[in-house]
Amino acid sequence: MPNAPQPRDAAPRPQAPVRRRLGNGRNGQAAGGRGARAHTGAADRNGFRDLRIVGVHKSFGESKVLHGVDLSIESGRTLSLLGPSGCGKTTLMRIVSGLEAADRGEVHVGERLLAGPGVHTAPESRRIGLLGQERSLFPHLSVGANAAYGLGRSSDRATRVREVLDMVDLAGFEKRMPDSLSGGQQQRVAIARALAPRPRMLLLDEPFQALDVHLRLELQAEVRTLLAALGATAVIVTHDQDEAFVMGDEVAVMQEGHIRQRGTPSEVYGHPASPWVASFVGDANFIPGLGSGATVATPLGSLATCCPVSGEVAVLVRPSHLRLDAPAEDQRDTAAVGQVEAMRFYGPATECRVQIGGDILLARSDRMPSVRVGDDVALSYTGPPAVAYPASAMAGLRRNGRQRHPERPNPAP
Ligand code: ATP
Repeated sequence: MPNAPQPRDAAPRPQAPVRRRLGNGRNGQAAGGRGARAHTGAADRNGFRDLRIVGVHKSFGESKVLHGVDLSIESGRTLSLLGPSGCGKTTLMRIVSGLEAADRGEVHVGERLLAGPGVHTAPESRRIGLLGQERSLFPHLSVGANAAYGLGRSSDRATRVREVLDMVDLAGFEKRMPDSLSGGQQQRVAIARALAPRPRMLLLDEPFQALDVHLRLELQAEVRTLLAALGATAVIVTHDQDEAFVMGDEVAVMQEGHIRQRGTPSEVYGHPASPWVASFVGDANFIPGLGSGATVATPLGSLATCCPVSGEVAVLVRPSHLRLDAPAEDQRDTAAVGQVEAMRFYGPATECRVQIGGDILLARSDRMPSVRVGDDVALSYTGPPAVAYPASAMAGLRRNGRQRHPERPNPAP
């Protein structure tokens, strides 16, 4: 179960077990915006490069896990790779890092082809920094020794350790032991360790999964700020939609070995490519509609659409875009009146499940009307021009109410 109420249409926080992690990891605090990223200059300064994955296929025995995945990331940018447990995220990242070989396809970092026909660069020669889950520093080694771990016997070890500790704002911490550091400081040491061999990019595999919600939020902000300041090219693997949105300049949504959509967090949330993506990245209601160009007729009235639509469609209605009012006398028999079936109070928001025409719609607001369970309510749509999908795209998905994925735990209580 999630640890805290989720005031917006957020996906719940998953907790699926992780089998084969990619590497080590830890970190640190602070805020910072994606927009603040010092893109080109910082990327050049610290040697980060772009990543290009082309047509990667992978099967394990009869089981096809990756189906021709294409994905690219500009240098200095952070991409969140988001998808349910088992969709192939870790396999893809293991192929990028060289721990797994693709059946087909190519991996390029900067100008270098790391994997492709007849090419398989060893993981240690790829210059990809790996960070895994929390608590992966060597507890018996000092901060300095942890940071130096990947440097071999090079003569400039001490200089490089000082440099990377300075980069993560831990100058002078060389002699401290990990257990004397805060969680955030530990994570920064892990980043310093990953940075020490001058990687071309960083892969962070569920780096915050093991943390409680408060520390996780704090460290997400700190790591995001740090990656931006470093100009790092980074991929963050997660099945947590909140984390993907907070951490990524862009988000790639993966399902069953395919990248279903890639875009900025607001593009993915606001214009999901499919009903599946819509319901994976947040709570979603779908109501039936009949499209005729720029509008769609729905039980909630005629709605403007973001793109021309025709015929039978399913219209995406985020719970926060559904307004509830006490029905006027002349509204009582209209299609847009339902009955409150259940209510939940989260503090910042209230959520109502409304029974309407045999379906359940979820509404969420910080200003719910003073309704009670059993009351009639008039529903109206208050969102931006609506996103609609051909009705046939709903196959296999629940049409209304909160979408629950088998791979996601239940949403907030
Ligand atoms: P999670 O978020 O739970 O870590 P994931 O999206 O990272 O999941 P993968 O770990 O890439 O998913 O696994 C994708 C599929 O490939 C799963 O069905 C998994 O069981 C299978 N798989 C992964 N590695 C192997 C392997 N070495 N042998 C057989 N099957 C494997």
